[in-house]
Amino acid sequence: MATIPDRLQKVRARISAACAAAGRSENSVTLLAVSKTFGADAVREALDAGARCFGENYVQEALDKIAALAAERARIEWHLIGPLQANKTRVVAENFDWVHSVDRLKIAQRLSQQRPPQLPPLQVCLQVNVSGEASKSGVAPGELPALAHAVAALPGLRLRGLMSIPEPAADFDAQRAPHRALRALLERLRGEGLGLDTLSMGMSADLEAAVAEGATIVRVGTAIFGAR
Ligand SMILES: *Cc1c(COP(=O)(O)O)cnc(C)c1O
Repeated sequence: MATIPDRLQKVRARISAACAAAGRSENSVTLLAVSKTFGADAVREALDAGARCFGENYVQEALDKIAALAAERARIEWHLIGPLQANKTRVVAENFDWVHSVDRLKIAQRLSQQRPPQLPPLQVCLQVNVSGEASKSGVAPGELPALAHAVAALPGLRLRGLMSIPEPAADFDAQRAPHRALRALLERLRGEGLGLDTLSMGMSADLEAAVAEGATIVRVGTAIFGAR
């Protein structure tokens, strides 16, 4: 059976190959290891194999792992990538380095107010609903510019870019389309003067398509930790 270090190495090789194919430098893409549902021991294994950035979906589960790995805090970046409710913003502002799933001004304002002043600003991405399904979280593309400018002005946050979770698609070209759309939205905001540098897009099944379209963070769970 493949181990976490083996699988991590395979994912790194996939990212390198995708960067080479796109004419991008390998270190232009950060690997976010999505550890949701796996325990602190799995995170530690990945950490020992060189992973540094970990993505979590569920706040309480993440807080348990952050506490269990408190001795390693200085060498881990914790990223929240799951939905965030208003009653959880304080613990998130106090414990995470990044939040990728901001899609409402109210949540951003709370995170900004509640970010402890001794910590650096919380790094945030706005989650965009690129596929346009009625159900999903994420700001609609038409509402993105107003939200982005408002969030960029909040003192406790540093707006870094955009995140999306497109509908699964089977072939490479179909996978690329929503990633290309997210990149176009980022470029538009940059054109409006926002200093954004992050595209959080691509998961185990479509990271090559995301890298081809300019992803700077790929969020990979299954391909590193196994099936959930
Ligand atoms: C679970 C999850 C991932 C990782 O998905 P895999 O298919 O397991 O790589 C990435 N992003 C988000 C937002 C997730 O919830």
